Amino acid sequence: MSVVTRFAPSPTGYLHIGGARTALFSYLYARKHGGKFLLRIEDTDRERSTDAAVKAIFDGMEWLGLAADEKPIFQTQRFGRYGEVAQDMLKAGTAYHCYCSKEELEQMRNEQMARKEKPRYDGRCRHRTEPRPGVQPVIRFRNPTGGAVVVRDLIKGDIVFQNAELDDLIIVRSDGTPTYNFCVVVDDWEMGVTHVIRGDDHVNNTPRQINILSALGATPPQYGHVPMILGSDGVKLSKRHGAVSVVEYRALGFLPDAVLNYLVRLGWSYGDQELFTREEMQRLFDIERVQKAPARFDMEKLVWVNHEYLKREAPENVAGEFRWHLERLGVQPADGPKLEDVILAQRERCKTLVEMAEKSKFFYADVAAYNEKDAAKHLTPAAADILDALVAELKALPEWKPEAIHAAVHGLAEKKGVGLGAVAQPIRVAVAGMAVSPPIDRTLFLLGRERTLVRLEAARAYAAKK
Ligand code: GLU
Repeated sequence: MSVVTRFAPSPTGYLHIGGARTALFSYLYARKHGGKFLLRIEDTDRERSTDAAVKAIFDGMEWLGLAADEKPIFQTQRFGRYGEVAQDMLKAGTAYHCYCSKEELEQMRNEQMARKEKPRYDGRCRHRTEPRPGVQPVIRFRNPTGGAVVVRDLIKGDIVFQNAELDDLIIVRSDGTPTYNFCVVVDDWEMGVTHVIRGDDHVNNTPRQINILSALGATPPQYGHVPMILGSDGVKLSKRHGAVSVVEYRALGFLPDAVLNYLVRLGWSYGDQELFTREEMQRLFDIERVQKAPARFDMEKLVWVNHEYLKREAPENVAGEFRWHLERLGVQPADGPKLEDVILAQRERCKTLVEMAEKSKFFYADVAAYNEKDAAKHLTPAAADILDALVAELKALPEWKPEAIHAAVHGLAEKKGVGLGAVAQPIRVAVAGMAVSPPIDRTLFLLGRERTLVRLEAARAYAAKK
């Protein structure tokens, strides 16, 4: 049997981090087994579904690199098909028309509550043979009355539901629109889904879905219900905890692969390995090793994973995201050193791309203003003198190479009888606007001779005026 999984988000908001993890697990499971990973947009709730949310889902999936193997399916485009299946079920007797009015249902409910019973539809239209004139009926599924449904959950183990607890679910409303659980069933069936991996908020839908599938003569898929993600305070992850949408993580400076790596470890483990390449994730992931208990989101760990990725990843794989962040700061990185070289110079000290972009902006844009504190400390009249001498030295260098720059800076410190910091810090403030930068020789080399000299001269003039 070839594995087919799907991710089936409802487009009612952004793609959140929990959804992304479910998508990742489904994706990895399909990849591992050489199967197919599908995307289905569950947009039947027309009031809450928006085009913007559909786009946010596509954007999030694309950014994470979780490509589906076929074009996405939209449930709203399949209403005709759901209607046909409902008609087939009516013919087969596995579904029936129900003409009960709102008032009747309410009365039923009140009576059950008065008897301290769980409110449920009592099946009074199950044997009705005549329509009620003037009433548009709903269609209900004829749920088995006896026995039990055992969900052999791949994560949670066996979960038993008594059929007596499940009432006859409405599958088509009186206005002809299909209901949520019914669409899911028809789609999982017709898409050939073999493994449903989804959030455990859907556990209670599963026995109903299995019953409908069985009534259709389909073999139900296997289910794996993934526990939710909690915030660091142990409460379900929500906006209150900070960023929850995947694209916000992009804006915070995380690499997509680092986010995936962080997510795969959120509730799943492989020994004590923390870092996985994509290939390893695909090969080693196993749904059966996903923990039963909810996982806690840990921002510090995500930052750590991200930094590890920045340090290890080939710089050309980081350049695209780095560019995106520079552009967000209003910087056009076309004019300046190669992004890959700046990444190499910065990655030890930058944990996120936001940090890296902020600390690298000066390579591509003029220094608009000096950091006040740094300028007060390092751009002093004494520094003006040093900068003056340095300009002369650097102008005279036969070649603009890190080694030559290094020798000039060190030589000057020696000549002036000052510590290296007395030369290096004024240079940093002059070229970067602040007293932090990669090593001076590398920084000036990447910045280029022309830009370096202009900035050193400007800083010298600034320092001399003090
Ligand atoms: N559309 C559902 C949701 O976004 C998922 C349903 C499913 O995976 O079966 O929660």
